Amino acid sequence: MVNLLGFDLDGLAAFCEGLGERRFRAVQLYRWIHRQGASDFAHMSDLAKSLRVKLAQAAEVRALPVQAEQVSADGTIKWLFDVGGGNAVETVFIPEADRGTLCVSSQAGCAVGCRFCSTGHQGFSRNLETAEIVSQLWLAEHRLRARLGLAEGERAIDNVVLMGMGEPLQNYAALVPALRTMLDDHAYGLSRRRVTVSTSGVVPMIDRLRDDCPVALAVSLHAPDDALRDELVPLNRKYPLRDLMQACARYLSVAPRDFITFEYCMLDGVNDSAAQALELVDLVAGRSSASDTPVSCKVNLIPFNPFPASGLKRSPPERVQAFARVLQDGGIVTTVRRTRGDDIDAACGQLAGEVQDRTDAARRMTRAPIRIEPVGAEARR
Ligand code: SAH
Ligand code: SF4
Repeated sequence: MVNLLGFDLDGLAAFCEGLGERRFRAVQLYRWIHRQGASDFAHMSDLAKSLRVKLAQAAEVRALPVQAEQVSADGTIKWLFDVGGGNAVETVFIPEADRGTLCVSSQAGCAVGCRFCSTGHQGFSRNLETAEIVSQLWLAEHRLRARLGLAEGERAIDNVVLMGMGEPLQNYAALVPALRTMLDDHAYGLSRRRVTVSTSGVVPMIDRLRDDCPVALAVSLHAPDDALRDELVPLNRKYPLRDLMQACARYLSVAPRDFITFEYCMLDGVNDSAAQALELVDLVAGRSSASDTPVSCKVNLIPFNPFPASGLKRSPPERVQAFARVLQDGGIVTTVRRTRGDDIDAACGQLAGEVQDRTDAARRMTRAPIRIEPVGAEARR
């Protein structure tokens, strides 16, 4: 049985062609699945009976089974989806006054192994398939619509961020058709500005995304220099800041927004000093020894969400504010992310699901103290 959640519209058209059906039938079917949330072909009343029979024999609309659903005191909802083989991934809905955001997972675990990330500590099991990525949105959107009693045409989710478990750009082949379904007017019709891929910096794939499906881009920076970033985000050893900033600049030529969002997780005593804030201002201006490429950006400071194995602490709020002020004085639009859903472990970096690690991450994950080069402002100038 082919799971139709795995097709973008062109894929579905090709599948329907294989059944001897024209493209407009695929459009009808696609709309039933994604706009109406239908999974039973028998209910798709404007499809010919013969087609419905053929579909029932060859295909299905199969969402991931929900293993658990939790609702936070602040209205955040977290779903745990069973993806088989002892693995489970998490998806989070974050209601806000003016919009609803869904945070979607792209892999069971993650192979990048960032020090401060709970998913990273769990290691990596496997890539999610397109159908498994889309399934998270399909289920959340249609459940929420029913629950909120939304009228036909109203939607519950108008913003999707690939910021759940996994490194989306290390699952590129499955990601792109999923993005296309999020954007397609016959499906979810989300604007490119409201679908965000967040990456730890897989440089070649940033370029491919630019060519194939440019959506909003967030880059997880976390450090203003290579030495510290090597320790926090091991992928930096492969794609250092110079390459990353150049890829960001190239992306901006087609990006739906005229800035890249840099995410920066505030770790007490590690990356949160005023001197490091100044270094960050220089980095994005292309005035640092790490990079001479200026990148138009916004910075999103994320208070670190602790978990026991990390051995790291959240920066105190005063230090976060002071860091933000230095960035703002340096002309960078800076926001401090409000922590949502932490009472149900749904906040950034707390998503853990269940991962049958095949990479031995827990053993490899170094707990050595993070070396911090003293970078006094005077020393730099
Ligand atoms: N792999 C991608 C997307 C998933 S992580 C990436 O790294 O960008 C989504 C965001 O949560 C990233 O910016 C990540 O750095 C941040 N994050 C990870 N662990 C965190 C933690 N413990 N506290 C706060 N933010 C965290
Ligand atoms: Fe993977 Fe992102 Fe977590 Fe790093 S922060 S381990 S890239 S999910």
